[in-house]
Amino acid sequence: MSKKHLLPNSTIGIIGGGQLGRMMALSAKAMGYRIIVLDPTVDSPAGQVSDEQIVAEYDDRRALRDLATHADVVTYEFENVDYDALADIEKIVWVPQGTELLSITQDRILEKAYLESCNINIAPYAVVVDEEDIREKIKGIGYPAILKTARGGYDGKGQFVLREESDIEAALPLLRYGSCVLEAFIPFEKEISIVVARNGAGQVETFPVSENVHVNNILHTSVVPAKINQDGDEEAHAIAEKLAEYLHLEGVLAVEMFVTKSGALYVNELAPRPHNSGHYTIEACSISQFTQHIRAIVGLPLLKPELLKPAVMVNILGQHVEGVNKAMGSYARWFVHYYGKKEVKRDRKMGHITILTNDTDAVLQDLKETQIWD
Ligand code: AMP
Repeated sequence: MSKKHLLPNSTIGIIGGGQLGRMMALSAKAMGYRIIVLDPTVDSPAGQVSDEQIVAEYDDRRALRDLATHADVVTYEFENVDYDALADIEKIVWVPQGTELLSITQDRILEKAYLESCNINIAPYAVVVDEEDIREKIKGIGYPAILKTARGGYDGKGQFVLREESDIEAALPLLRYGSCVLEAFIPFEKEISIVVARNGAGQVETFPVSENVHVNNILHTSVVPAKINQDGDEEAHAIAEKLAEYLHLEGVLAVEMFVTKSGALYVNELAPRPHNSGHYTIEACSISQFTQHIRAIVGLPLLKPELLKPAVMVNILGQHVEGVNKAMGSYARWFVHYYGKKEVKRDRKMGHITILTNDTDAVLQDLKETQIWD
């Protein structure tokens, strides 16, 4: 009973040439697919490992059509792809992730409304459009609260924490980007995330839950398995599976959540693509999030991910490159990944390291002792 799937040598088009596109491309190349990537940067991280790169902006309609006519299937590595442009190419090429998922995940207001409609627990919030609105609605939300732009934010950009009334003034510039979400601050004990995959045949598979630490709103470390109780773990898997089904997902989706002291889970954000907190899957699981994503979009059956060994993943930002380069010769267990970015900039994600271990606390301590991430 074989279902239709794309055969090796078919071409996968990727919108976005960053590290996620690169790791998708590496997985797809291993399976024998051809890759064409669209990105405005010449010799982009994904372009370096692809068969071809179209150098153009993500909303360049003509370039996107060019990508669509040369590809058998098109995927994207980030959610800020131009909606209309994607809808346009959907008429000429198979885009398994579709446009609906994109429209929901690129707008926090729609995303929150969608999560509520699925009966999924989220932080109390209100949509605000001007200063008066903030002053009024914060009465219901209370301090501290977070003001977030509805569109375009990532890694904590487009956010402002309001601790008291006098903070409102400084947060107002965010309204220039349009409507915002005013959200209650959840006093979480842990942040976790889970990657789920679904294919067109309706098969759903989840990856182990990862426990994440952010520094300055940027992911710093992921530890797997997350140290949460069994109920929390089961609930996280159930939420991810439910969303994959409701959204008719084809590809992978990451779900970020907060866990409070009492064990309550709050979904914070969805990412309709492989996720930084799932990089550990490359070495630690029986299948990586990238290979699973490619299998889903080419119409192959999914594998059930198994954790082969607990793992710690740490990001290498621009300011860590020098330290990592000096130290890596002394750490045989470091799986060092670099993304081929030419320009080293502070806070820019340049690579990551995964370490497989039976003692994740000891590894975190070892990483601390290197002082690279101080
Ligand atoms: P986001 O861009 O929504 O993923 O937020 C970036 C980071 O800000 C999260 O990973 C949290 O550490 C923090 N954060 C965002 N929203 C909240 C919230 N409602 N309560 C507490 N912390 C938050």
